[in-house]
Amino acid sequence: MAIADNISSVLEDIRECRIRHGVEHPVDLLAVSKTKPYEDVMAAYEAGQRLFGESYAQEACAKIDTCRRDGIRDITWFFIGPLQSNKTRPVAERFDWVMSCDREKILRRLNEQRPAMMRPLNVCLQVNISGEEQKSGAALSEAADLAAVAAGLPQLCLRGLMGIALDTRDQEILRNEFSALADLFRQLRQRYPSMDTLSMGMTADMEAAIAAGSTQVRIGTRIFGARSRPD
Ligand SMILES: *Cc1c(COP(=O)(O)O)cnc(C)c1O
Repeated sequence: MAIADNISSVLEDIRECRIRHGVEHPVDLLAVSKTKPYEDVMAAYEAGQRLFGESYAQEACAKIDTCRRDGIRDITWFFIGPLQSNKTRPVAERFDWVMSCDREKILRRLNEQRPAMMRPLNVCLQVNISGEEQKSGAALSEAADLAAVAAGLPQLCLRGLMGIALDTRDQEILRNEFSALADLFRQLRQRYPSMDTLSMGMTADMEAAIAAGSTQVRIGTRIFGARSRPD
């Protein structure tokens, strides 16, 4: 199916999920275009999509630069991939948001490297809700300390939390993991009112995430098709 049709169908599903679960706040759609060519980003853009997520700094920066060269300035770019601390600079210089902040060192580097003339970089803390050791993300118990660090850095704006659930069809596991992140989000936002984003839910677990209170789903496969490269 064409990218434009896929986007309409995801938007329709988000709407239905919100109704089914009595969710009154909006749920944003982040189109995850990692590994996909620039033409696919443009097809989604022409269909009206404006929020894009990318995971690989080099590939993403090339796409962002091409967009700017083409005069497209109304896309909001979200970095969602794992970040090595020696590769933060191009991300700090180009992206609007970084969703995968999971340690103090990354927060401090992004703050230092965000150019002074740009708006503060929006950041979300990535929390490892599945508890798998190979997954990135801070532990639930570390998130409050990280939030305090992020909130104190002038070139960052602490916007929320991001989590990736276990790759499972077991609805109870998904419900538990998403609820744990939603509880943490509610606690932290009392102290940090700039927190307005709870990013959870992907192609396979979107409904469980919306039911638990997600404000942003990150959808790749269902919009752009399967990825040939692994992530
Ligand atoms: C790749 C990726 C997604 C999109 O996953 P799909 O299953 O293709 O929808 C969402 N979030 C993160 C952090 C990702 O790396």
